[in-house]
Amino acid sequence: MKDIQLYQQILGLVEPWRVESVTLKPKEQEIEVRVGFADTLWGCPQCQKRMQIHDYEERRWRHLDSCQFQTIIVSRVPSVRCPEHGSQTVAVPWAEKYTRFTRLFERLAIDVMLECSITGACELLRISWDEGDGIKQRAVKRGLARKSPAVMPHLCVDEKGMGPGQNYLTIVAQVTDERTTVEYVGEERERESLDAFWEGLTAEQLAGVEAVAMDMWEPYVQSTLAHVPGAAGKIVHDPFHLVKYMNEAVNEVRKSEHRRLQAQGDDILKNTRQLWLYGMERVPAQHAQRFETVKELNLQTSRAWMIKEVFRGFWLCDQVKEAERYFQKWYRWAIRSRLQPVKKVARMCQTHLGNILTFFVHRLTNGPIEGLNNKIQGLIKKAFGYRNKKRFKADIFFHLGGLDLYPIQ
Ligand SMILES: [Zn+2]
Repeated sequence: MKDIQLYQQILGLVEPWRVESVTLKPKEQEIEVRVGFADTLWGCPQCQKRMQIHDYEERRWRHLDSCQFQTIIVSRVPSVRCPEHGSQTVAVPWAEKYTRFTRLFERLAIDVMLECSITGACELLRISWDEGDGIKQRAVKRGLARKSPAVMPHLCVDEKGMGPGQNYLTIVAQVTDERTTVEYVGEERERESLDAFWEGLTAEQLAGVEAVAMDMWEPYVQSTLAHVPGAAGKIVHDPFHLVKYMNEAVNEVRKSEHRRLQAQGDDILKNTRQLWLYGMERVPAQHAQRFETVKELNLQTSRAWMIKEVFRGFWLCDQVKEAERYFQKWYRWAIRSRLQPVKKVARMCQTHLGNILTFFVHRLTNGPIEGLNNKIQGLIKKAFGYRNKKRFKADIFFHLGGLDLYPIQ
């Protein structure tokens, strides 16, 4: 088989397109495949009306490598002058409009970027950072445009701080048995931040919402109440957020107790911050003995920790009635603890109890929300922080949007 026929078949070219020459350029480590076309009429890309070629422009595309050689397709692309749509460049079958890469190359680049940091991906693919970013941004745009409105029964809403300036994003994700996908990213964490998501849904989608997990954050609660029919029974303040508050309370109790004890020359609580964050069953073996000793001392911190642990047990209840009884018992204990930070969290939970008990109806579990949080944290790490909100948003959709990112073949 001659090289021209070989590349004709590899590229899958059909009439009027055909390979005219294949040139090996050893110095540039490049194979140049020149594609030409037979004399024919060309369709206007807008209206498909066929007409004579008006002009052409020579263009180059990077294709998948042939062994160690970069493979470049070079072709003169015809343009037509449509009476209705003016001067139009015709579509070529191997690439989308306005790109210097073939469809197959973009496909590979998307796969590599899904696995690596953008810097790593660009090195592997031998493209510049801007080229890699261009492929990614086009992929997200394509994926978002392909989405069709579907009913999303289980959602979770969360905020994401963007570092020291505490610039926030509001993130809405859909949770199914198979996966968690980000459906929306909004600016800030105001009521309007979430309003825009609800307002983008159809009436059918709004009615199809069964449960929405979120922190006890009033702007999100208000926005959901205003838009989702029957929202009062659908908002769920989930264990992920609530246990976090309890952990913070334990830490506050520890900090002030440590200060007090240290003033008396007692260092017992030194370097114990992490110990109190473990669940009872999760204390690592090498800390077990130290923790046992500290826990048995009559410390405020140990009491706060016990109250936190018993609160974790609350989420294991089977039914709403049982959970309510468990909570009231726990609440009475917490409120009499004389530990201000613990009392504060207990009161906050009491105030929102209605939408905490909904957990036992809807069973929106912790895993997806926690997993999503970790994945977003991973993105921030992989990108070495984000200087740019727009880029961060696009990356969230690229990696976590569950989108169909590829160019059509
Ligand atoms: Zn036209």
